[in-house]
Parts: sequence; structure tokens; C-alpha cells
Amino acid sequence: MANVVVVGAQWGDEGKGKIVDWLSERADVIARFQGGHNAGHTLVIDGTVYKLHALPSGVVRPGKLSVIGNGVVLDPWHLMTEIAAIRAQGVEITPQTLMIAENTPLILPFHGELDRAREGQTAVAKIGTTGRGIGPAYEDKVGRRAIRVADLADRATLELRVDRALVHHDALRRGLGLDPVDRAGLVAQLEAIAPEILRFAAPVWKVLNERRKAGNRILFEGAQGALLDIDFGTYPFVTSSNVIAGQAATGVGLGPGSIDFVLGIVKAYTTRVGEGPFPTELLDPDGERLGARGHEFGTTTGRKRRCGWFDAVLVRQTCATSGVNGIALTKLDVLDGFDELKICVGYDLDGTRIDHLPTAADHQARVTPIYETMPGWSGSTEGARSWADLPANAIKYVRRVEELIDCPVALLSTSPERDDTILVTDPFAD
Ligand code: GDP
Repeated sequence: MANVVVVGAQWGDEGKGKIVDWLSERADVIARFQGGHNAGHTLVIDGTVYKLHALPSGVVRPGKLSVIGNGVVLDPWHLMTEIAAIRAQGVEITPQTLMIAENTPLILPFHGELDRAREGQTAVAKIGTTGRGIGPAYEDKVGRRAIRVADLADRATLELRVDRALVHHDALRRGLGLDPVDRAGLVAQLEAIAPEILRFAAPVWKVLNERRKAGNRILFEGAQGALLDIDFGTYPFVTSSNVIAGQAATGVGLGPGSIDFVLGIVKAYTTRVGEGPFPTELLDPDGERLGARGHEFGTTTGRKRRCGWFDAVLVRQTCATSGVNGIALTKLDVLDGFDELKICVGYDLDGTRIDHLPTAADHQARVTPIYETMPGWSGSTEGARSWADLPANAIKYVRRVEELIDCPVALLSTSPERDDTILVTDPFAD
């Protein structure tokens, strides 16, 4: 299996960082295919801590090619700051080790301003954005008024693109009580950053097709989670891009057949940041305990995450929409010491049992979970590296999760340490 996609199978924060780190050591190419710098991975390699947001996890490993695909939206100023920070830690980043797709749309300063201005309005329910301009940049991509990496190479094209964007944005800003964009200032800023970004620009679709033919192993590094997918998530409380595995191909320019294994990252319970439906949310001491034991605070925003029992209905659904071949079940250790554990096995909607999350927002808000109760375990799973290290009831819990979501466990994570992992199926194995 040459090419592996890693996707979050819940609402993000499933612990993708550790698993991606583990897999990136074995890949030749690591590609980001959606999202922006709202993703937050912390990697610890040989005792050094690296904080990555826009950069793929491969950049901190020598000999790997890291790729930012066209499915991403890129803030060029943020990227240069992030590169400088990683360089300051002694890691060299060159056009041989980092490539940015020429057709990647840029996040511009006015995108962040728009995000924050809209989120500050009380007239509509908040979506819960991180205020970094990612949503507005995707809007401009679909609205065919984005400035893309390749546009930075030519002053005349750049000015045309800026004018096209500003017709839209200045009208919008007037309505929101913001001043028009300083056109000359923006063009000057873009011209200044252009050579730094263009150094890394490449026809990524071509490079990756060649790498694939040459037998390289490609790791597609997903951000967020499938329940935040723009089409299949809990709309409108979602992110602005497709998160599900099919996007890996579209987001870099490879065919759908180039994906050999989809690894869904699944937390042993459920969390969600920000607004939106969450059927198994716990607003009681059990929820507090999950949050405290699991350190459920956002890496990028510091926001407290909402916590609840494992929802097998949702994960079965995301395994289906992403074609997940196997899951990495993370944070099992957080469940240590509970007397009993609940798993959501279905929903009640107005007296009828259903086996999926309905699409209509009012239905999503009204479903109540139908639980199955399982005994907890008094022993510890923390740091377990083989099944033999796990209490019998922990194994029963994992097996029940597999049955309910209709997907096998490929990896089991039992602590933040990279080696505290039980390997069942190697996603990269032939
Ligand atoms: P991501 O956005 O999906 O990468 O998830 P985050 O990085 O926000 O959350 C993962 C957090 O959980 C990090 O602090 C990890 O060190 C930690 N983590 C990952 N796997 C495990 C695990 O199996 N057990 C515990 N206790 N913590 C874990």
C-alpha cells in the first residue's frame, strides 16, 4: 500500500498529530490537501518540540518532500513566519524539501478582517471560526476572485486579480462598516512576499504523479475532522473545505485510484470545539472528567472542548463517507477508571429509532442518543504496547467499537508518546 490518507473521523482533535508523525517517518512525501493554518500539530522528535500549522509534518524530517496542495488555502505571511521559526530550530527548508502548488489560493489580510467582522455580529448564530480568514479565502476561490500563488509572478496579472477581488470585498466591507482595502498597500505587500513564496512554487500535480509512478510512499495529512466537512459535516457549523478522504486526490491533483489506504483517526470518546450539534455531549461530572483527563483544550485557540461519550453512529457514518479501511483509536487511556462507559448505538428522533445523523438541522438538534452501557476497567491502559497489556474490559470496549462502526482497528494509541501504540495493521504494508 503505497499511499495513505489520514483523516479525522470525528470533529477534529482526534490525535492526528501523533499518528501522522508516526507514519511520516515511513513516507517519502507528506502532503497537505485541505484546510489552512487553523490546523495545529505539535511534533516531538528527539526531544525537540516543533509547532506546525500550515507546514506538513514532513518538513522536520530530513530527506522527505513536503507538499502544500491546491486544496489548501495559504496565508503567505504566516507561512514565512512558520518557516522562520522552524529554521531557527535548525531545520533547513528548501525548494527541494517543500513545494507549494502553483494553483493554491492565498489568504489575504482582508480575509481575516472579514472573518472577524462577521463573527462579531450578533444577528446570526456564530459558526465558531478561528478568525484567520480561511473561510473567506475559500469563498473567493469558488467565487473565482482568488489570488493564487502563480499570480504573484507577474505584476500586471496580480493587479488585475487584486482589482477583481476588491470590487467584491470593498462592497462587502462598506456594508459591515469597514474601510475599503488599501489597494496600493496590498499590492506592495504581495510584491514583497512574492519572491519568498515563488521559490517553493511547483506543479505539484505533476511532481506527485511522477513520484507515485516511481513508487514513492505518499502520506496525505488531513486536518480537522469529517464531521466538519463542508458537505457531510454538521452544516453550517463546519469548516470551509472538504475534509473527507476523497479530497486528498482533488487537493493535490492525483486520481482517485491513487489512494491505497484510508486511516480514520478516532478518539475513544467524543469532543467538539465551538458551536453546533453534539448528540452525546455530557454536561455533568463525567464530561468534566473526560475533559480534564484528556486535556481537552485547543492547541491553536486554547478553547475548552465539549466532551461526551463515544458516538458509534457518527463514526460509522464518517468511516463510510471517507471509505476508511482501518481506524487509529486514540486516547483509550482517558477512559481508565470509569465504573461504566456508554456508547451511542443509535438515535431517537421523535420516537423513531434511526441509525445515522439526519441532515436537517432541526433533526440534528432533536435527536437523543440511545446508549449501550459497558463495564469500565480498574486497571490502566496508559502506555500499553500490546493487547496483553490491556485489561479485559478495555479489549471488549475496543472490539465493540469495531463492530458498531463496521471498521477494524489498525492502530491503538494509549498515551501521547509515539511508541505507546499497538500496531494491528500497518497502513503502508504491501
Ligand atoms: P489533532 O488535531 O488531531 O492532531 O489532535 P490534537 O493534537 O489537538 O490532540 C491530540 C492531543 O492528545 C495531543 O496533546 C496529544 O499528545 C494527545 N494524545 C494523542 N494520542 C493520545 C493518547 O493515546 N492518549 C493520550 N492521553 N493523549 C494522546
